Amino acid sequence: MHYTGTIWRPPYEADSLLLEVTAGCTHHNCKFCTLYRDLPFRFRMFPLEDIESDLLEAQLLCTDPIARMTARLRQLPQPEPVRRVFLTGANPFVLQTEKLLAIAERIHRYLPSVESIGCFARVTDSVNKTDEDLAQLRQAGYNGLTIGAETGDNDALSFMNKGYTARDILTQCRRLEAAGIEYGFFYLTGISGKGKGDAGAKATAEIFNQLHPFLVGPNMLTIYPDSGLYQEIRRGAWQEEGELEKYRELRTLVENLRISTYFAAMGASNEFQFHGKLPEDRDRLLAALDRILSGEQEDDLRDYRRNLPHL
Ligand code: SF4
Repeated sequence: MHYTGTIWRPPYEADSLLLEVTAGCTHHNCKFCTLYRDLPFRFRMFPLEDIESDLLEAQLLCTDPIARMTARLRQLPQPEPVRRVFLTGANPFVLQTEKLLAIAERIHRYLPSVESIGCFARVTDSVNKTDEDLAQLRQAGYNGLTIGAETGDNDALSFMNKGYTARDILTQCRRLEAAGIEYGFFYLTGISGKGKGDAGAKATAEIFNQLHPFLVGPNMLTIYPDSGLYQEIRRGAWQEEGELEKYRELRTLVENLRISTYFAAMGASNEFQFHGKLPEDRDRLLAALDRILSGEQEDDLRDYRRNLPHL
């Protein structure tokens, strides 16, 4: 399989076939972001021939009797038919509809067991697609996108150069919903800055409550020296929330989300990982956050973040 640079995927895509379709990010401009910095280019789509050769390799692994025998001899699990493919890169959904359809056609041709195709997406990736395009993409298997919406706080979105507004989140996600394309949101705890976490969480809940994400997955802002945000802090233009404030912000978010969704703090940026269904598990989630808020010290939480080598 071809893979270029660090491959990022959501924790819940662990069982998906990671198919290299793109690398990097078309936007590459969010102040806090240091992902995809190991690439010598901003964004690239790989040739269809490379994608096909990876699909052929995956097909062989699943069906080739020698591969099955080798797995048995090595006491490895038998290769299972691939049910889901996750396309690599920060926003492969930005690709033109014809390209995405061509990729889906190859996926289904080589791996007929595939039921759905997911990827990371930016809020803006659907702007240049018509509603008919989106319906066609859904028909071709695209479903379960992970969108780094981050927040519904317009000031934070603008300061961080996210490249869209809270209104855009509503408009574009409603279009995805109309096409039947399900999506989950990543939320960035701490993005609003010191003293603004509570208001940022309320603004976010107000936006998310008008939509139907299957997941709200908070990540905690972790600032690295090679980020634009680090420079903003150094010149006194922005202040980071304290660690306890970040947990208070999360508490406000859980309290204010009124939709039916799965809330899951996963990944290394969250020192404490917890998850549950909303609204059913709201009290349990709030109790977990209260235990952190009453039992943890700012300095200890800070040490965890300081020692996080990368996300
Ligand atoms: S869109 Fe995502 S990957 Fe691209 S710069 Fe922003 S946070 Fe980073």
